[in-house]
Amino acid sequence: MIVLGLETSCDETGIAIYDTRHGLIAHRLYSQIAVHAEYGGVVPELASRDHVRKTLPLIHEALAEAGITVSDLDGIAYTSGPGLVGALLVGACFGRSLAWALGKPAIGVHHMEGHLLAPMLEDNPPPFPFVALLVSGGHTQLVQVDGIGRYTLLGESLDDAAGEAFDKAAKMMGLPYPGGPALSKLAATGDDKRFAFPRPMTDRPGLDFSFSGLKTFTRTKILALAVDGVLAGTDKADIAAGFQAAVVDTLSLKCKRAMQQTGIKRLIIAGGVGANVRLREQLRVTAEAMGGAVYYPRPEFCTDNGAMIAYAGAQRLAAGQCSDLAVAVVPRWPLVDLPAVAHSVDA
Ligand code: ATP
Ligand code: MG
Ligand code: FE
Repeated sequence: MIVLGLETSCDETGIAIYDTRHGLIAHRLYSQIAVHAEYGGVVPELASRDHVRKTLPLIHEALAEAGITVSDLDGIAYTSGPGLVGALLVGACFGRSLAWALGKPAIGVHHMEGHLLAPMLEDNPPPFPFVALLVSGGHTQLVQVDGIGRYTLLGESLDDAAGEAFDKAAKMMGLPYPGGPALSKLAATGDDKRFAFPRPMTDRPGLDFSFSGLKTFTRTKILALAVDGVLAGTDKADIAAGFQAAVVDTLSLKCKRAMQQTGIKRLIIAGGVGANVRLREQLRVTAEAMGGAVYYPRPEFCTDNGAMIAYAGAQRLAAGQCSDLAVAVVPRWPLVDLPAVAHSVDA
């Protein structure tokens, strides 16, 4: 089965083609970073318009890369939520209409299921069950995954998502958008022990997170150290290092707890913050010390991409699931509401 995947939930236009016999056969990504950088964050209306401009050219490029035509497609998958409503509607309109014109099935894919299944695109995919740490711009969740669509929420952030905390802290420090990658690059040059950043909610039981306190701590340090509103280079680097270490330690401790609580030794990391080198390394050490293993997508498949949507859509279409003819999106959509898939089909 050959499935075209469209991702347009936020500020990346991702188009990919997944073949259940041969794996990923095309992958195109266009990031709108340059469009939003001057505003310091995603401007929803500009995002929608840019998706309109890019979706069709990227579909043509992906088909050419795969060496196929639209008539070779067996189905179309598009992100139908959660995300920005206007941006989602672009992918849903293109995907749903193209499938209708071709007389092929279409399926609206849950963006976080896409992230969660992204490690399946790698050479050594994790067998079920596993614990998933979903860390992205809008979500921080620990999920027990017993199969596709068999998800149990173990814990989540009570306020900011981890990626959002990275972005907000970076903005306070005057780093360019998107803040996460910029902050982590700076952190590599800093002293992570100089400032005693808290490890929020680690001193009490449970698997929930809270990151807004780290923001406040960061602001307090900046105000204390800045001279005429300007931070010295070493101060900035040390704040970045301390901030990153606090987020990574907190995530690691909760992952360890989740593995102990469930008795599951396999951990996957997905979502944009999963591209963070320090997080990847520390979680690998944590899992291996417990006799377990950690799995993650390649960094470019941690952040938004079409490959994860093509893969998740192919699983559901192969199981006979599909969406009706309406162009419908679900801006707020709990992951646990998804139906189960009996067997996965992997290349
Ligand atoms: P969601 O998936 O929850 O809807 P999103 O799609 O906007 O949100 P992603 O694209 O998965 O989020 O991830 C983007 C987030 O990842 C941003 O907050 C970004 O700062 C963060 N991020 C990306 N790379 C890194 C990194 N190396 N270190 C820390 N954070 C990072
Ligand atoms: Mg993005
Ligand atoms: Fe995402």
